[in-house]
Amino acid sequence: MTTLEKKICMMGAPGVGKTSLVRRFVESIFSDKYLSTVGVKIDRKVVPIGDTSLSLLLWDLQGEERYQWVRMQYLRGASGFLLVVDGTRPKTLEVALGLQENAESRVGQVPFVLILNKADLKAEWQIDVAAADRLRSAGWIVLETSAKTGENVNEAFEGLGRRILGL
Ligand code: GDP
Ligand code: MG
Repeated sequence: MTTLEKKICMMGAPGVGKTSLVRRFVESIFSDKYLSTVGVKIDRKVVPIGDTSLSLLLWDLQGEERYQWVRMQYLRGASGFLLVVDGTRPKTLEVALGLQENAESRVGQVPFVLILNKADLKAEWQIDVAAADRLRSAGWIVLETSAKTGENVNEAFEGLGRRILGL
């Protein structure tokens, strides 16, 4: 069994559920490690993918994210990222698309998965579902998740892991 360690960044507008998704995925708030000086929290979770033991280092910006644009050096060395949108707030899709472009200009093309979160509130979703379908057609992985119910959360992180491994 090969062991690989990969850095993954949580990206997206404030309040979309980035921290909640990490918490749901790692299922242990006690494994948290804080880099308080740079306002980043790093969690680790090992997922077996094929015959690889993939150790995901999950980087999540804490607190005030208004300065996310200038803190994109956060992405340095990342093998991929989760781009998170709040289905109830259309503007968070625009923010995500801007972050994706910015990320690509900084670190080049690394794998990412677009997450439409808060699927438990789907009756209140306001985002343009057709736009999401167009992104799917363009080859993006787009998943609907809920950090609240756990729906598709493992699939999102593991899907990103598979993409990072080129599977
Ligand atoms: P972050 O700023 O992107 O890290 O977002 P948080 O994880 O702090 O979540 C922001 C708010 O949205 C909190 O009140 C969460 O409880 C809530 N939240 C996050 N994910 C979900 C979800 O899937 N469904 C619902 N209903 N609420 C969520
Ligand atoms: Mg957060």
